[in-house]
Amino acid sequence: MSKTYGAGADRYVALDGIDLDIASGEFLCLLGPSGCGKSTLLNIMAGFEVANTGTVMFNGAPVVRPGRDRMMFFQDAGSALLPWLTVEENVRFGLRVRKVPKQNWDEIIDRYLRMVDLDRHRRKMPTQLSGGMRQRLQIARALAVEPAVLLMDEPFAALDALTKRRMHGVLLDIWQRTGKTVVFVTHDIGEAISLGDRIAMMSVGPGSNITKIITLDMPRPRDFTNPAAARLFNEIEAELSPEILRSERRAAGAVECGGV
Ligand code: ADP
Ligand code: MG
Repeated sequence: MSKTYGAGADRYVALDGIDLDIASGEFLCLLGPSGCGKSTLLNIMAGFEVANTGTVMFNGAPVVRPGRDRMMFFQDAGSALLPWLTVEENVRFGLRVRKVPKQNWDEIIDRYLRMVDLDRHRRKMPTQLSGGMRQRLQIARALAVEPAVLLMDEPFAALDALTKRRMHGVLLDIWQRTGKTVVFVTHDIGEAISLGDRIAMMSVGPGSNITKIITLDMPRPRDFTNPAAARLFNEIEAELSPEILRSERRAAGAVECGGV
């Protein structure tokens, strides 16, 4: 699958020849430096963007538009939540938008707010919640429509380290209990190692691609005092470092030459 933005002098080949299979129930991390095309790839999977060549197939059918079966999940909970609605109403709003039958709403709202430990805060407004709680609300809202796939775009990048670790626990627990397929975008090597069944590594663009897929057969929670995890971290870092340098050089070149 390939994706080009713009035309003429502004033409930019973001993705070129992406070829990836994701199993049902798998936790796949997409790892690559900033600007390599991770969000582009996720947006195409979600149906927000269209590929120029190739197709995303989901359960045997091509993805042509967003759907309730694939929920997108963003870094900025603020852009996903409605600030004038309470915690509970935010989940209800998602159910209404996605046309979930009304008679099930109360039960669904209870179940998912309990799952993310927000049931005691159901009458609060999003502004009264901490960053981690807002992300938990976003998770509850996404899960409530019972999608098969969660597409997560650097969801915890803005959280402090401890909250992030806690969110990893919450997400892994939900994933293990519900059997969802998760595609999780990150530029954080440690996060990818903590979470993934596999890590798909992406090269820097133009013409970004998946360069390597690493299968992690380590039990969770992954302990970084474990020599195998530490070794893997170093290996991935050694592979990504030249990519990051390349991406910085490209960005600097773009500034100096007024665009490349
Ligand atoms: P990542 O999520 O890995 O940081 P993106 O998918 O956001 O990367 O972007 C990949 C490349 O495509 C970047 O060089 C970015 O500037 C470019 N790009 C992304 N969206 C657009 C767009 N709508 N129009 C033009 N170029 C874009
Ligand atoms: Mg991105």
